Amino acid sequence: MAATILDGKRLAQQIQAELTEEVAEFIENNGVDPTLAAVLVGTDPASEVYIRNKRTACEGVGIESRLHRLPADVSQDELLALVTRLNKAKDEPVHGVLIQLPLPSHIDAGRILQAISPLKDVDCFHPENVGRMVQGHPRFLPCTPAGIQQLLLRNRIEVAGRRVVVVGRSETVGKPLAIMLMNRGPGADATVTVCHSRTVDLPSVTREADVLIVAIGKPRFITAEMVKPGAAVVDVGIHRTDRGLCGDVDFESVQEVAGQITPVPGGVGPLTVAMLLENTLRAAREQELAR
Ligand code: NAP
Repeated sequence: MAATILDGKRLAQQIQAELTEEVAEFIENNGVDPTLAAVLVGTDPASEVYIRNKRTACEGVGIESRLHRLPADVSQDELLALVTRLNKAKDEPVHGVLIQLPLPSHIDAGRILQAISPLKDVDCFHPENVGRMVQGHPRFLPCTPAGIQQLLLRNRIEVAGRRVVVVGRSETVGKPLAIMLMNRGPGADATVTVCHSRTVDLPSVTREADVLIVAIGKPRFITAEMVKPGAAVVDVGIHRTDRGLCGDVDFESVQEVAGQITPVPGGVGPLTVAMLLENTLRAAREQELAR
């Protein structure tokens, strides 16, 4: 029997509807719009699409977004100067700062991300926020892992005490997600295994997963033989191919084995954007409370 589809697009719309009410209430109570400053360096077409989607979503829930465009040959010091200005913005509110990645290779992305005020770090890349998340008292949660956790929670896919296998150990997805699922609390308390390119006999590990989450950046890499029958499969990957968009999971074959599966597109992607909006509202609340 074919797997149930985990509809991330519909869930993101539901979360955004909830956020629209919360944003309206925030504006009424504080007299200020939650505001996200987005920084785009260069004209990479994929980054242009991601930024456009994020700004449209902001607009949809009532969050103000401002785009700062810089040329691809901007110097590191100029970019740092912009981040410093956004950190300190007083005359106009800036509650969240988002640097669209990747940055050009002459810029040290780590240095730029560390320069963002931890209070405005809505992507949750700053070491202070990563540390807080690891220790189980987060200020923000990183957007893609948070979106996946919401997807599991709101579809009542239990992870507590169950075997979750995360394939991929990137700093933005695999590693923080594994930590979040391992921590205590709702949508967590899982027994987590993390795999990467050095894992020996990957299929034997992925076949043990009750919940299999894949973020490796390789089109249709996970096939039916690698999935335990009935498992929930979450596909983070996104690739443009001759046959259209696809994920890291071979959807056609895996949907015949899995119990639940996310589609690509319409799975994890929209939830990542919804979590960015949630973090921006959270940042606005914390900053306005401290005024
Ligand atoms: P990344 O930084 O490229 O890292 C890939 C990870 O996969 C690494 O840990 C790598 O292992 C591991 N890996 C690569 N080949 C492998 C193999 N054959 N077997 C086992 N592990 C392997 O990836 P990422 O940034 O997490 O992105 C992954 C995918 O998700 C990409 O397609 C990206 O576009 C997509 N993505 C989507 C969203 C969304 O919102 N939908 C958000 C972020 C990313 P090593 O560490 O050993 O090299």
